[in-house]
Formats: sequence, C-alpha cells, structure tokens
Amino acid sequence: MERAELEPLLERIAAYAAARRAGDAARPHAPTDAYTQALERFRLAPSLESMPAEEVVLSLIRNAEPGLAAMTGPRFFGWVIGASHPLGVAADWLTSVWGQNTGNHLATPAAAAAEEIAAGALLELLDLPRGASVGFVTGATMANFTCICAARGEVLRRVGWDVERDGLFGAPPIHVLLGEDAHSTVFAAIKYAGLGAGRVIRVATDAAGAMRPDAFAAAVRDLTGPMIVILQAGQINTGAFDPFAEIIAEAGAKQAWVHVDGAFGLWARAAPDRAPYAAGLEGADSWAVDGHKWLQTPYDCGYAIVRDALAHRRAMRIAASYLPGADDEGRNPSDYAPELSRRARGFATWAMIRHLGRDGIAAMISRHCALARRFADRLKQEPGVAIVNDVVLNQVAVRMGSDLPAEQADTLTRETIARVQEGGVCFIGGAEWRGQWIIRISVIGGDSSEADVDRAADSILAAWREARG
Ligand SMILES: *Cc1c(COP(=O)(O)O)cnc(C)c1O
Repeated sequence: MERAELEPLLERIAAYAAARRAGDAARPHAPTDAYTQALERFRLAPSLESMPAEEVVLSLIRNAEPGLAAMTGPRFFGWVIGASHPLGVAADWLTSVWGQNTGNHLATPAAAAAEEIAAGALLELLDLPRGASVGFVTGATMANFTCICAARGEVLRRVGWDVERDGLFGAPPIHVLLGEDAHSTVFAAIKYAGLGAGRVIRVATDAAGAMRPDAFAAAVRDLTGPMIVILQAGQINTGAFDPFAEIIAEAGAKQAWVHVDGAFGLWARAAPDRAPYAAGLEGADSWAVDGHKWLQTPYDCGYAIVRDALAHRRAMRIAASYLPGADDEGRNPSDYAPELSRRARGFATWAMIRHLGRDGIAAMISRHCALARRFADRLKQEPGVAIVNDVVLNQVAVRMGSDLPAEQADTLTRETIARVQEGGVCFIGGAEWRGQWIIRISVIGGDSSEADVDRAADSILAAWREARG
C-alpha cells in the first residue's frame, strides 16, 4: 500500500479512535446488538468478493459498534476487566505497525529487550524474587497453564522422570491441591497440562472463598510424592486472598510446588495500602498475573512468573536449527511462553509501566479499592440490600432482597441485574455464590471516578426498587 493511500486510512482511524474514547463516558454501557444481530451485520456474500481497504474499515466500524460493550468506559463494573488505557493502545498500535514476530532476541532485539526490561520492572512492582523468569502470554489462563507445566516438569524431575521427553504415560502420579473457589481457568489449565481437572484434591474454603489452613493440613497430611499446590490471590467474587504464609510453609514441608493464581489480586502488592493482604505469597514457586486487568494494557497480555527459570525454560523452550539463538546469548521470549510467533507484548507493558510509574500504579489500585468501598457503603444503606463480602480489594458482592426468602431474593437479584444492563448507565454482572445469586461489582477500569460510582449505585438502586415493585 502506498503512503498516499495508507496515511489517510490511518489518520481516519486515529481520529475515530480519539472520538470513540472521548465518548466512552456518555455511551450506554451495554451493547445494543444481540449476538444474532451482530452475526447478520458481519455476514459475507457467498462470492467473497474483495472490497477496498478504506471501505473495509468503515464497514468494520459500522458492523461492530452496536455489538460492542463499553469495557473501556468508566462505569463498566462487569467481570474483572481492565480498560485498555489509551497510552497502552498507542503502544499496541506501534506494536502492530512494527509487526515483530517476537520469538527471538536475535531476530528482534527491540521487542525482546522491551520485554526483558518490563519483566524486571514487574518483579519490582509485584515484589517477587528478582531472579524469577517472566513469560509474556495472552492472559492469566495461559499464565496458569505455563506455570503449571513448569511445576509438572520440576516435581517429576525430582523423582527421576523427564516429562518433557517422556510425557505423562507411566509417570509417577502428581497430587494437585487447590481451593474449592479456584478460578475456572485454573481447572482449564490443569486439563490442558494433562493433570486431569477431575482428579484434583479440592480443599475447603472459608466464607470468603479463601483456603482453610486446617483443611489444607488435613488434605496433605498423608500425601507423599510429587505435589502441586495452587493458591489464589483475589477470588473473583469476593477479592479474598488465601492464607499464603501458613499454607506455603506446610506445602514446603512436603516439597510441593506452590503456584499462585493472582490474575488481578497479585497487583495488591503494588499498592502499599493493599499489599499486606497479599503478604507471604512471595514464598511460592510461580505466579500468574494479568497485564490486561489492573495494569490496563490492551488485550491480550498476561505474565507467567517462575522462580526457577530453568524449570520454566525446560517446560516451554522451542528449539529448531533454523531458529537463531541459544540460551547463553540472552533471553529469548519464546523460551518462556507456549508460543513461537506472537505479538510483542513487551512494548505495551513497558509503556504502561513507564507512563504510570510505581506511584501511579499504586495510586490507581488504591483508588479503585476505595471506590469499591464507596459502592458498598452506598448500596448497603438501602433496606433489603446486603453486601455479602468483606470489601478488602476491588470486588463487591451484593445480594438484593436479603430480608426475603432465598428464592425470591435470587429472582429479584437477577431481575435487578437485567434492568441495570438494559438501562445502560453502568454494567454489572451476576454470579451464584454460596448457592445464592449476587450482583458482582468489580472496580478495576482505569478512569472511574466517585461520581461514576454514585451514578452507577443510583441506577442499581433504582432498578432494585422497580424490581421489588
Ligand atoms: C481473569 C482471571 C483469570 C483468567 O485470566 P484471563 O486473563 O481471562 O486469561 C484467572 N484467574 C482469576 C482469579 C481471574 O480473575
């Protein structure tokens, strides 16, 4: 494509992007298209005829907009979702413009270097062992998978089994222990790693979803042999943290590998007022954390952090004669992730850390947690509305009709969620927690203000009053 053609195309997108992001706050916070409508818009003619580039871009915008959720908006409190910070988007555009295949530091020194420097900064911010290795992956799902593969290899290596060479057929069994309220993606990661999501030992948790040390002690007491223990920093409904120090000490006595899923909760360590909740997890062997949640990098971005870099490399390394570079010449990104060709995720991570800095990241996390408390304080003043979690982090779990029979409260909670989503002032989701429906509120998007929380709380209460009738 000639510059004369490319420049107006990209300028048009830049102008669109600026207008779109400037309009984030004013737009309804739920898509207007349902999935079936979106399918219709994207439908292609069977002839699959070509279309000029500029028309394609316009058509893409036209087709997508009605089906987009306001995930970058200031009143989006659904799931646990970062807001793709505009600076991260800018870095991500450059990443695409440069089109670096980021497997290897000889092929792309800049992409590999940005990653290595960003990796070091992540270990500083999260206060994890400075010698740990960091793999840049698509998100915490793949970070959990990568770390569990490293764990699997190492616990089997210690009993004389080379899983990377010989696989799991005939291998000594590995005990895998995790909390009852572990994230669904951890079970997926266990499944991908061939450890069997159905054969794990599920350890009882407390009311907040944190693993109970007494239950863990009872579960490991008679276990011997290779063992992986998976803990959690930041339960998705409650924000709860497992009692790390206690369980890691106990697991250490069994030579277990301890992995921590800290997709968003690990970031508590970057904010001095939240860090105590996540204390003790530095004693673990590996950690999964997202960039596209609390660091606000665009999708997709997560980090697999492993204390024993060699175990990490053994599990992930891809070697071939046509690929330049050996271990001792520097860090190859593909040695730490289950991918060879991939985007240069280090650029956006480096840019976000460079922009916000240590203090900016800490301030953002503290602000989000304070906003979560504000949310809870406003909602709980209403009769029949109960906050069911201890708001230690950014998650608020709300039960509507808490003074009514459970079945009626379930119906009213779901009805409230539907009305809020339809109203579009804010976006919230729901979940079943301890057998009861709750509203889940997650304050983690970049730009939310006190006024946004107040407007959102008002819309939830208005929906609740309508639902209750
Ligand atoms: C979001 C999340 C994950 C999965 O992360 P992805 O970025 O969606 O892959 C895993 N664990 C927890 C606790 C999470 O919140």
